[in-house]
Amino acid sequence: MEHEAPHYDVLNYLPDGIIIADERGVILFANDSFAEMLGYDTAMLLGLNMLSLLADIDVFQACISKVMVEGKSLDEETDLIHRDGSIVHSIKSVRMIRQDERIRFFVNIRNLTDINHLNKELLASKELIELQAHELSALLTSKNQELEEILSSIDEVIWYIDNQTLSLRYVNHAVEEVFGFSRETFLNDSTLWQQRIYPDDHALVQMFFETLLPGQSQTIRFRILHNDGETRWLNSRIYHHPKLHFFIGITSDITAPKAQRDEINFLAYHDPLTLLPNRAKLKLQIESRFEHSSATPFALLFLDLDNFKHINDFKGHEVGDKILIEVSNRLKKTIGENDFCARFGGDEFVLLLHNTDRHDIDSMATQLIQTFKEPFVVHDADFFLSSSIGIVLYPQDAQSDDDLLKHADTAMYEAKHRGKNQFVYYHSSMQCAVRNFLHVESLIRDGLSQNLFELYFQPLIDTKTLQTEGYEALLRLPHPKEGFISPDIFISVAESNGDILLIGKKVLVQACDFIDSVRSLYDEPFFVAINVSSKQLHQEEFAHQLLDYLYLRNIPPSYLKVELTESAVMENIDIATRQLTQLKEGGIRIALDDFGTGYSSFAYLAQLPIDTLKIDKSFILPLFEGSSNRHIVEAISNLAHVLGMKVTAEGVEEPSHYDFLIDNKIDTLQGYHLSRPLPKTEILQKLQERAPYFTAVTSQPNKQ
Ligand code: C2E
Ligand code: CA
Ligand code: CA
Repeated sequence: MEHEAPHYDVLNYLPDGIIIADERGVILFANDSFAEMLGYDTAMLLGLNMLSLLADIDVFQACISKVMVEGKSLDEETDLIHRDGSIVHSIKSVRMIRQDERIRFFVNIRNLTDINHLNKELLASKELIELQAHELSALLTSKNQELEEILSSIDEVIWYIDNQTLSLRYVNHAVEEVFGFSRETFLNDSTLWQQRIYPDDHALVQMFFETLLPGQSQTIRFRILHNDGETRWLNSRIYHHPKLHFFIGITSDITAPKAQRDEINFLAYHDPLTLLPNRAKLKLQIESRFEHSSATPFALLFLDLDNFKHINDFKGHEVGDKILIEVSNRLKKTIGENDFCARFGGDEFVLLLHNTDRHDIDSMATQLIQTFKEPFVVHDADFFLSSSIGIVLYPQDAQSDDDLLKHADTAMYEAKHRGKNQFVYYHSSMQCAVRNFLHVESLIRDGLSQNLFELYFQPLIDTKTLQTEGYEALLRLPHPKEGFISPDIFISVAESNGDILLIGKKVLVQACDFIDSVRSLYDEPFFVAINVSSKQLHQEEFAHQLLDYLYLRNIPPSYLKVELTESAVMENIDIATRQLTQLKEGGIRIALDDFGTGYSSFAYLAQLPIDTLKIDKSFILPLFEGSSNRHIVEAISNLAHVLGMKVTAEGVEEPSHYDFLIDNKIDTLQGYHLSRPLPKTEILQKLQERAPYFTAVTSQPNKQ
């Protein structure tokens, strides 16, 4: 038996009680668990008949015989007797095993008393667990509240929605600020959030959710309509939860703060200097008029300040800015409550008048012109300004904002052209002017490419000697198809498109050719006066290049004179002064052309190195119509002489003019009475023949 023990030693580790008995029931082995179950030491059990431990022997014997017959193990409940006499309720299974021809019973006993006890314990622990569960859920609830508090203190909207229906399941308090609805409203109406998506962004949002795969997260930006009617931009980071079947998102409002938004809005539509609506706002305003009341007429006034550039150039931008602010204040005060005034550009303003009665527009335009009568006072200095206004009517003159502005601009230019400080209504014939412009441009291109430009020369007669003292070079454009194009037509076009720079160079070359030719035939001093436009004068290198060119051609500068108009000089007095000084120092003489037609300031005149004033022909042609022209000519003549300048009168057509001008000490005469402008060949021929340009002094004009 001792030798058997080691085999069974391993059975000591099992929790169930195990005994091995022989065919009579004598215990050969009992494991520790069994001994413990019945309150014995293991050794005490060995040799005992296991039947002595059973409360009901019959049951056990029946069981044994069954095992022996059927060879099966049986599980049956058995009561065992504890060493202390108590009953140990247990369940047993018996197996019969054969060992070396001997029969052995292997009995496995589980203590049911323990299980019952365990059950009791289980019950108790179940109660405990329930108690704990209760506590736990209370804890969870409080944790939930804590979590909720944390979530509601977050500015971002935290939410989740069903991944199938997109209906809202949860959202925190931040939703109220972003959408302008209470959180409860959102939770009660689970599709409200979808209804607030900006219509244009609906498809985008829809597609986003359709394509966001489970487990993925993505960011989307879209707009919503806040309850206050404004549009807000949202940025959402969204996760598609693969197990919960939710889209979980965190959303923030990325719209700029209201004040900032208002400021951006304001700056986008207002001019920062005058605070008037700007060009963009004007467009919106015009468009909204089309939209809401396409049948309601309105008038658009395009107002441009006259000669404002001078103020900026002479007095600096600070003064210019102050004047613009004052101009905008005056305009705002003048127009009606329902009218609109915008700053269109530098010194351009556009007004929209709802009243289209012609009489009312006239009176408003007159009032606007009048507002400039009062001087603009900046730093205690008075500035006088005027404005030119172009007027266009909707819908008769144009139907689109672009056309309205274009036509109003055309009419405004017409107002400038007519002498500024006035208003002009747009007329379709002005469109012709635009078309003409393009046509003239094409003629100029032809002139340049085919070398058609040709100088004519008109003699200038010295009233003291009655000799030719010089010639004015006057440009002609004989076009093969269009005939003679007057410089009055092509010069202004060439000035505005810049072609005058190239034309001016050709003039200089031809003038120098002419000087060379005349010098070869004629020993006396003379000059050729060329007309220079403001565009040329304002080229930085103008004077230098002119002098260099004469040097190159080996022509002394005294042979050249330059004629400039007052407005060309006044356009930028600083540059003009610099250029004129350089020309003068280089030996070139300077004449101020068309004198009397501009706004010459005598203060400036006296400072400029001018040799000659050319009295404009508009004073000479009607010299004897009324007396004022004669007074003006007299006054200019006196003034020029006081300033040490010579005086030329142009447009001398009549013998009577001639006498009057000589009597009034005009130094030089120019006009059809003396000679028309002639081509170079004719002049050279006359010089060769020593033929005079004109014959009798006070008799018939020389018709050439
Ligand atoms: P402007 O400089 O005042 O030239 C004098 C204009 O008066 C010339 O007209 C001349 O033909 C005209 N004229 C001369 N005597 C009489 C007269 O007795 N009666 C009348 N009714 N007119 C007379 P033109 O040649 O048609 O030139 C017109 C203007 O074109 C010039 O006026 C000048 O401003 C400009 N121009 C002509 N050639 C050039 C040029 O080469 N360069 C530039 N920049 N401008 C030029
Ligand atoms: Ca001239
Ligand atoms: Ca002139």
